[in-house]
Parts: sequence; C-alpha cells; structure tokens
Amino acid sequence: MQTKPIQSIIILGGGTAGWLAANHLAINLKPKERQGVKITVIESPDTPTIGVGEGTVPLMRNTLKEFGISEEKFIKECDVSFKQGIQFDNWMKPVDGKMHSYYHPFDYPILDNDSVAAWLQNPVMPFAHAMSRQALLCDNHKSPKAITDPEYAGQAAYGYHLDAYKFSDLLKHHAIENLGVEHLVSHIEDVTLTDSGEINSLISLQGDVFNADFYLDCSGFCSRLLGQALNIPFIEKSDVLFVDKALAIQVPYDSEQPKLPSSTIATACDAGWIWDIALPTRRGIGHVFSSKHCTLDKAKATLAKYLNTSVDEINPRLIDMKIGHREKFWHKNCVAIGLSQGFVEPLEATGLLAFDATAKLLAKSFPTNTSQLAAAEKRYNSYVDGLWQGVINFIKMHYAVSDRDDTAFWRDNRDTVSWPLELQEKLEHWRTHIPSLYDFERGFDAFRLENYLYVLYGMNYPTEIGDTAYRYQAPENASKQFELIQNHALKLSDYLEDNLTVINKIKQFGLSKV
Ligand SMILES: Cc1cc2nc3c(=O)[nH]c(=O)nc-3n(C[C@H](O)[C@H](O)[C@H](O)COP(=O)(O)OP(=O)(O)OC[C@H]3O[C@@H](n4cnc5c(N)ncnc54)[C@H](O)[C@@H]3O)c2cc1C
Repeated sequence: MQTKPIQSIIILGGGTAGWLAANHLAINLKPKERQGVKITVIESPDTPTIGVGEGTVPLMRNTLKEFGISEEKFIKECDVSFKQGIQFDNWMKPVDGKMHSYYHPFDYPILDNDSVAAWLQNPVMPFAHAMSRQALLCDNHKSPKAITDPEYAGQAAYGYHLDAYKFSDLLKHHAIENLGVEHLVSHIEDVTLTDSGEINSLISLQGDVFNADFYLDCSGFCSRLLGQALNIPFIEKSDVLFVDKALAIQVPYDSEQPKLPSSTIATACDAGWIWDIALPTRRGIGHVFSSKHCTLDKAKATLAKYLNTSVDEINPRLIDMKIGHREKFWHKNCVAIGLSQGFVEPLEATGLLAFDATAKLLAKSFPTNTSQLAAAEKRYNSYVDGLWQGVINFIKMHYAVSDRDDTAFWRDNRDTVSWPLELQEKLEHWRTHIPSLYDFERGFDAFRLENYLYVLYGMNYPTEIGDTAYRYQAPENASKQFELIQNHALKLSDYLEDNLTVINKIKQFGLSKV
C-alpha cells in the first residue's frame, strides 16, 4: 500500500473520553499551529453521554496542567472537591461488632518492606495510618492543599471529585476555543470500509459523508466503530467481576454547610457496593450490584436504606454496564478510547484513569504516516491489554481477599475459580512474602506496589513472614518511623483547613499561578 501522511482524525463521541482524547491529540499534534492535521469531534444530538464518572485519581492533575487548563477555572466550573483516596467500609466482617473500615490513600511516602514487615509483626494501628499522613487528613475531612499552594500542587497527593457533565463541557470548550479542535453535531448511521478493511467514511442520518485518515471510537458502550463496524470481539469479564448494573442518584445535603469528606466512600453491601462522592453542592451516590446475585427491587431497597429513606422516595437511574474489554484496542486506522475500549466497574475510578492514560499514550506515539500504522498498532495493543489485565487483577483482589461469607456474592467472589491465574499466583506468593517491586513487571500497570499494599493490608492479608523475618531491619526503627509519620500527620492536619473551606476560598480568592 502507498504510504500517505496522516493529516486528519475524526473522533466519534463527545463524552468525557472523546473530549479527553481530543485535548491530548491537539496538545501533541497542534492542529492550530501545524498545517494539515485536522481533528474533528462528531457527537450525536440524540445519544446522551453516560454522565457518571465523578471520581478521579492524581493522574488527572498532570493531564489538566498539560492541557493548559487552570486549576482555579476547573474548580470553579466543575463543582470540584478534593479527593485523597478511598475509604472502604464493610469490605470485611465486623470486628468486635464494629464495622471494618480502611483507607487506600494516594500518598506513597515510605512503604519500604522493612516498615511493612515491622507493621506485620506488630500492627499497632491501621496500615494506612502507620504508613501515610493522609489517613488522618481523610479522618478529619481536610483539604490536601492550602490556599497558598500553587495550582496543581499540594501538601499531599490528590485527585478530584467532579460533576461529569460540567467536566466534559469544560474539556470541550477548551479543545474547541484554545486548541483548534473542530466540532460537529451529527448522528452517524453507517460506516463504510475500504477493500483492505480500514474505515473509509462515516455517514450521517441525513446522508452527509465524513472522511478522515484516522478514526477514534469514543462512542461509549455501543462501540460503533471498533465493535460494530470492524467486528472486533468483546471479551466478557463478568465471570471474574460480577457487578454489572448501577443505580445512580444525586442527593442534596441536609444542611447548608456539609462536612465534605476528602475521600470517596465505598461501602460494601450484600451483592455489590455503594459509591458516595461528596461535591460542594450535592452528593453523587450509586449502588453497583451483580444481577446474578440480586434483584433490582432488592438493590433499590439497599440504596434506599443507605440513604435512610424508603424505596418510594427515590428514583435512581438504572445503568447497564458491559464488563470486559475489546480483544484489541487498535485495528488498522481505528483506536477505541473510553467505554468502547473496555470497562470493569467504578471501583478505584479505573475508567477515567484508563481512558486518560491510553489517550495520552496514543497522542504521544501517534504515527505520522500510514507506513507506521502496523507497528504502532502492535505496540499499543500490547500496552493497553497489559493495562486492562492489571486493572482486572487489582479490582478482583478487593473481593478475593475479603473474609466475608455472609452472601452468595461474597462466597462466589472468594472462590478461586473466579480469580485470574495471575492474581491467584500472586496472592499465593504473598502468603509468605511481602509484595515487592519485582512482582510488578508489566510496563503499563495502572496499579503498582503501593496500591496493592494499602488494599492487601487494609484488609488484613495474612502474610506470614516468620521464616524470613531476619531479612528486615529491627522493628524499633520502624516504630519510630510510624511515630514520625503520626507526628507529621498531626501537624499537617492542624495546618490544613477542611475540604469545603479551601474549595470556597479558591472560588472567592483564586490560587497562585504556577
Ligand atoms: C455506573 C458508572 C460509574 C462510573 N464511575 C466512574 C468513576 O467514578 N470514575 C471514573 O473514572 N470513571 C467512572 N465511570 C466511567 C466513566 O463514566 C467513563 O469513563 C466516562 O464517562 C467516559 O464515557 P465515554 O465518553 O466513553 O462514553 P459516553 O459518555 O457514553 O459518550 C459516548 C458519546 O458517543 C456519542 N455517540 C454514540 N453513538 C453515536 C453515533 N452513532 N453517532 C454520533 N455520536 C455517537 C454520544 O452522543 C456520546 O457523545 C463510571 C461508569 C459507569 C457506567
């Protein structure tokens, strides 16, 4: 085939994934400055965006900074609050009649195996409190940054809680007004292919024909291009990760001045879990559940109970989730980013993380001409497949290491039949060895050693280091380290104001610019 430069890109879909991808591509391919590279987003006037996805991880800070969006503007326009991690309630049996609760914070200050070994031998306090200053900040609903900290910097690591619609809108305006991305509103009804199987054109309901050299499928769960037009199969993972439906609702605060938690609260239930995300003006709450283990009525009752109300008083939106990912993510001249690429469930906010990371990967390694397509496709598919296998292992681990056996959902989750082999092997190894960097060999793992340590030992994973205890430094030193972290956490907690106060001050006075 004749080599041609790649000069135009159509992104099908104007959800968060489509606009994230448009910004990443525009920042790297610079359509405003370079002649010839044209980026167009086409979105349907009739198919709504999914409109959920309100928890993010710290990666989003780098992304927004790279896009050139000011943090102050973002906070003012997207109903943002700071997120310092996740509080997991009820994921283990109660202890002495008290609900089990642990944090997976974003800060990774020390976490060397000596301190972990010392903690295992003498777990004087919860793992996250021993290892990170951030657990105390979360206990006290503190902001991770002071009003005097510059944009995108803080005293502790942080991501955001945000309004999904407003966020998508901000990305859209930025891409169009500042980065030279073009925007069309049109419903794509048909797709034509070339003789060699590439996408040739998109045809709208009205018969308009759109051509480009390269296409991004950001059309959501329907995967209009990669799935429907190019027939790339979907690999189901609902035999590993059981939750497949969500009931989502937004609720107002009882009082004018809510106490705004700076962590997402994830409360485990009989057949799934409930997310609780606190924005300055409202809470976003949703119950994700396994339809194999729970009826819709029962799930509604669980959500109503959490909200302290009756089923008749609530009207949540039911969302069907496709659990799994495409067999490949790049095929010929088409790449899928967003729910069209894959999705497992909302735990740990892996959606925006995966779509942001893969859109950035695509933009950074985007081929300049068609002769580079095959090699780029191979490399990208290998990376992104690794990312999804890592995400699936990590999410499954939250269920697999639980000691809950009170319902079929938890018993089925703990049954090793439903565990990916790689996770099985790792968990077996970690019964006698503390996880180490050598256990994370994949090039593109979204979750790494520290994330695993917080979840495993937050959930009391029984690593027996008896025979190898001599390899670690004397526990007295580690105890001093825990004390230092505690003292530092206390000082920081005194210094920082609460989450809502800082957000309100930023809205009123702004932030120092970087
Ligand atoms: C219940 C639930 C909770 C979630 N929570 C989180 C979370 O807390 N954190 C997180 O990171 N992620 C979360 N996610 C994932 C997050 O919602 C998605 O990552 C994000 O919204 C991106 O969606 P999208 O852009 O891929 O798809 P969509 O929002 O569905 O957008 C699809 C776009 O494609 C367009 N389109 C479709 N077909 C056509 C057509 N034929 N012609 C033209 N246009 C078309 C639509 O108009 C729309 O613009 C959650 C997902 C679910 C389901």
